[in-house]
Amino acid sequence: MKKNRSKNPWVIGTGSSILAVLGIRLIDYFVGTKILSSVWQGLLWTLSTISNFFTQKFEVTFWFLILLPIIVLGLILLILWIISKLQEVNSESSAPQIPFLRYTQDIFDGILYRWEYVKNYSGKYEITDISLYCPDCKCSIIYDKCPVCKKYYGRNRKDMVEIDALIRHRIENKNQHGY
Ligand SMILES: [Zn+2]
Repeated sequence: MKKNRSKNPWVIGTGSSILAVLGIRLIDYFVGTKILSSVWQGLLWTLSTISNFFTQKFEVTFWFLILLPIIVLGLILLILWIISKLQEVNSESSAPQIPFLRYTQDIFDGILYRWEYVKNYSGKYEITDISLYCPDCKCSIIYDKCPVCKKYYGRNRKDMVEIDALIRHRIENKNQHGY
């Protein structure tokens, strides 16, 4: 244990000493003899201070050495636990808890409608982006016509307000999908 404690600072200390020597050599090489001795002394002092900082030793009890990894591990586990709890809360508040959020398409009067939900400022859901699809080939209906099977849907087409009301009605009265 004692050997281990003094080993690390020693290695770092040696490393920084070597770096310091290398640094001095490099400065010496590039600046040559022009450098002022006071600056040189200051530089040496700074380097030795840095070196001393890394080589300083402190006494710790054996118990502390044992407890430290346990405390660190405990903290990591605590953080992970908090993260998992937060994720649980998040997943509870999203889609699975509100079954009708999965109800995003239905056929009304022979036309397939798809839509999305948005939460408004009062925290309630609104139906948006209602779009029309051909129930046979699932292609978007353009100008009341399916571009694929050329079927005309103009006669059965409903107003968006009407579709909105129908969707709400099916949600409120539990539609055929059981939502
Ligand atoms: Zn079609």
